[in-house]
Amino acid sequence: MALLVKKFGGTSVGTTERIKAVADQLVAARQEGHDLVVVVSAMSGETNRLVALADDIMPDAADPRELDVLLSTGEQVTIALLTMALLSRGVPAKSYTGGQVRILTDSSHSKARIVEIDQQKIQNDLSKGRVVVVAGFQGLDAEGDITTLGRGGSDTSAVALAAALQAQECQIYTDVDGVYTTDPRVEPRARRMEKITFEEMLEMASLGSKVLQIRAVEFAGKYSVPLRVLSSFKPGNGTLITYDDEGTEMEQALVSGIAFHRDEAQITVCGIPDQPGTAFSILGPIADLNVEVDMIVQNVGADDLTDFTFTVNRADYAKVMSFLEERKDELGAASIIGNNRINKLSIVGVGMRSHAGIASIMFHALSEAGVNLRMISTSEIKISVVIDEKYLELGVRALHEAFELGDDEVEGD
Ligand code: ADP
Ligand code: ASP
Ligand code: MG
Repeated sequence: MALLVKKFGGTSVGTTERIKAVADQLVAARQEGHDLVVVVSAMSGETNRLVALADDIMPDAADPRELDVLLSTGEQVTIALLTMALLSRGVPAKSYTGGQVRILTDSSHSKARIVEIDQQKIQNDLSKGRVVVVAGFQGLDAEGDITTLGRGGSDTSAVALAAALQAQECQIYTDVDGVYTTDPRVEPRARRMEKITFEEMLEMASLGSKVLQIRAVEFAGKYSVPLRVLSSFKPGNGTLITYDDEGTEMEQALVSGIAFHRDEAQITVCGIPDQPGTAFSILGPIADLNVEVDMIVQNVGADDLTDFTFTVNRADYAKVMSFLEERKDELGAASIIGNNRINKLSIVGVGMRSHAGIASIMFHALSEAGVNLRMISTSEIKISVVIDEKYLELGVRALHEAFELGDDEVEGD
């Protein structure tokens, strides 16, 4: 008998009708003889609603500890409701908050990392034939305070439980039937992938494909957790994340997927002295502000002066802009220019390792579509560009077609 960890996201438990439908699916899985640990998110929209409540009381600066106390309540509702649905179907089941099953984390509120899971309670329930329903997204720190794992963190709860319990598979049920070549909401011709390598999934998640939280993918890679993304609405095999990079089938594709991130902003410090220590004098204090910097470009200097450009999350834009404006003279900069209407668009594929010319296909497709590239960065299996946000959809579709990723790729050939 296999142990499966199944995670259901917000839309999948968005109404009582949906919760009942999930319970029916779990009954069927149990009848197939599986032991089940189920992780659920809050009902869709609930976490946003709670964030807005906090924002109304403490605008832009909710107390981190109290915010986690608040946000963790969303998942507490769904574990209880799903367990009730199971009990009313005659299935023995028990719900637990993250703290109750001792999902222990560090103390970084709102982005805590799981450090340990005590499986005793869960194993005990499983041995008594119960379905164990665990609240995603939350844990407890060493002080006994409630922590949360970052938006989308229920994926990570599920993968961590699957790793700790050595489950046969961790199944992430969501509102799409797998991982697609790009977000199907932006490109309706996107194609579901049967498999994707762990490396590619890690890049896709870190470059903005929120179908899986990046930490969940990291965790799965670290502990080789068999991970699958499936739909809770329609049956199918979904997409399997594989750890076998030998897979020739996958290596034939030059580019496997297109990812994008909307919440980006670009900042340029113009006319600063081109000398040792310049980058540090800008980025050091920004790191101290707890702001993550993503792409960085320093232009070739002229007349001993240079321009230094980087991107940050849009939520941090105003803070960084005013910080740099205040220090403009100290830095010796001529001016600070910002743009918070940009997006990052990326192509991902292990095939890039062995093929030259991918960048030129990308840049040609974007130029044909009239999309201007503001910044470019590459690594072994990805190329990212910064573009104006108004061109995002156009850019995604142009690349999807250029790399023949769609279902009807013969069209136009
Ligand atoms: P859940 O609430 O179940 O965790 P999410 O909204 O976090 O669901 O993730 C599912 C969504 O991810 C999809 O509705 C889809 O719009 C988006 N998405 C982004 N990129 C991709 C991709 N490459 N493949 C599939 N879905 C994607
Ligand atoms: N409810 C949390 C969120 O909306 C966690 C999750 O759904 O994974 O981000
Ligand atoms: Mg999610």
